Amino acid sequence: MNPAATPITVARGDGIGPEIMEATLQILEAAGARLAIEEIEIGEKVYEKGHTAGITPDAWDSLRRTKVFLKAPITTPQGGGFKSLNVTVRKTLGMYANVRPCVSYHPFVSTKHPVMDVIIVRENEEDTYAGIEHQQTDEVTQCLKLISRPGCERICRYAFEYARANNRRKVTCFSKDNIMKLTDGLFHKVFDEVAAEYSDIENEHWIVDIGAAKMAASPEVFDLIVMPNLYGDILSDVAAQITGSVGLAGSANIGDGIAMFEAIHGSAPRRAGQNLANPSGLLQGAIMMLVHLGQPEVAENVHNAWLKTIEDGIHTYDIFSEEHSKQKVGTSEFAAAVSERVGQKPQTLKSVTYRKEGSGAIEVQITPTTPAEKAIVGVDVFIHKLGIAPEDLGAKLQAVSGNGLKIKMITNRGVKVWPDGFPETFCTDHWRCRFVAETEGQPVQHTQIVSLLSRVAEADLDFIKTENLCTLNGERAYSLGQGE
Ligand code: NAD
Repeated sequence: MNPAATPITVARGDGIGPEIMEATLQILEAAGARLAIEEIEIGEKVYEKGHTAGITPDAWDSLRRTKVFLKAPITTPQGGGFKSLNVTVRKTLGMYANVRPCVSYHPFVSTKHPVMDVIIVRENEEDTYAGIEHQQTDEVTQCLKLISRPGCERICRYAFEYARANNRRKVTCFSKDNIMKLTDGLFHKVFDEVAAEYSDIENEHWIVDIGAAKMAASPEVFDLIVMPNLYGDILSDVAAQITGSVGLAGSANIGDGIAMFEAIHGSAPRRAGQNLANPSGLLQGAIMMLVHLGQPEVAENVHNAWLKTIEDGIHTYDIFSEEHSKQKVGTSEFAAAVSERVGQKPQTLKSVTYRKEGSGAIEVQITPTTPAEKAIVGVDVFIHKLGIAPEDLGAKLQAVSGNGLKIKMITNRGVKVWPDGFPETFCTDHWRCRFVAETEGQPVQHTQIVSLLSRVAEADLDFIKTENLCTLNGERAYSLGQGE
């Protein structure tokens, strides 16, 4: 083994995975990447052997030893019981940042956006991706959206550090904090706090809906966009696709001292085994890996050779066009063409430079949490009841009020329906019943809530769950009902 070689873990994956991984490794070898490869098996075959997460204990050992994972796409089996391997690996190993550069290659690859060069930085561990879901009643399901301050701080700091290391001038935040004032509101607030520490980098915030529309119509006005998990998942695919092909973009999943690099697309099973697939997405992931490993000169050689190949019109089927391409090639021929061009630079497309000082792993520190002064001032009790009128439920809950707690309001899907609801409001079988201290604002004890729940159960009402209403340092820490 070359003593300068860095150990990495490689998985060839499913579908088109083995072909695009072979192509990528050939190019890396041709460019002199210093890698000591440990191979693991993950995905379909491992799921079939009964490992519900698609990965074996040996494979975990390798990942925890090398801390660098180059991964081809895998096929997630349909049906219940199987967990997504990607989500499991990212979350188990704390890979909190997902970086997806989306670049157009005009005039060599067809795109409506000739000058697009946007980095999407997606928070990778939180949001509805925690996958905490419950069917609560016959009619209503719920998915918990968890957003933490450390999670927001980490991803926002990472975005600014990445921008600084990669000469990006502006960081944009997308959130929906006009509606989700506590969760997305925290993301936006922490973004603003972190942004204030980076006076050399411009910052701005867009509400995600109009921001997404703007990104799809005029991506050239953005530079780096940081977002919570779900928006980032959706919009990074949109951003990659509008550059010309989802097959062109790579992705880095970054944690503290550990990282996984992949293509953004999946295993495209219909294209498997035909030497058709474009290996560029995985190769872009591998280029980010080389920078992470502190081999920027190799990353630069591979990236420029790839740009030259694209510029020479040597294209796989997904980006081939009579107008822009010269030669339609398969996966292995494409790999050979890139390998032959190692040492060359593109003439029309802008060549890339990776600086030694900008390379290597980015690590961020987060501020330790200072616990706030917390007081419980009420409780939301969620009740499952089909076909009851809000006034009747209100009367039942007035009857169980007492011992320092009174019913204040009932909402259905967030809209106030009692007291003084509108008959037009559609009601499901899922009621949020807000109890507050008899003298509003006074502290409420856990024991009062427990005895309230006993009375609710004795009144033959099926409570599904409770949420305490708290103040933190005197500030209200819960949302009001619409119409409250
Ligand atoms: P997909 O991204 O695999 O493929 C969608 C279509 O895009 C393909 O049919 C093909 O036409 C095209 N395409 C994708 N990659 C290409 C490439 N490199 N070259 C040329 N064309 C390419 O999406 P899908 O069909 O929805 O998912 C297939 C499987 O992949 C599913 O099991 C899914 O769970 C899995 N998946 C895995 C990952 C991952 O491992 N990171 C990511 C997404 C999906």
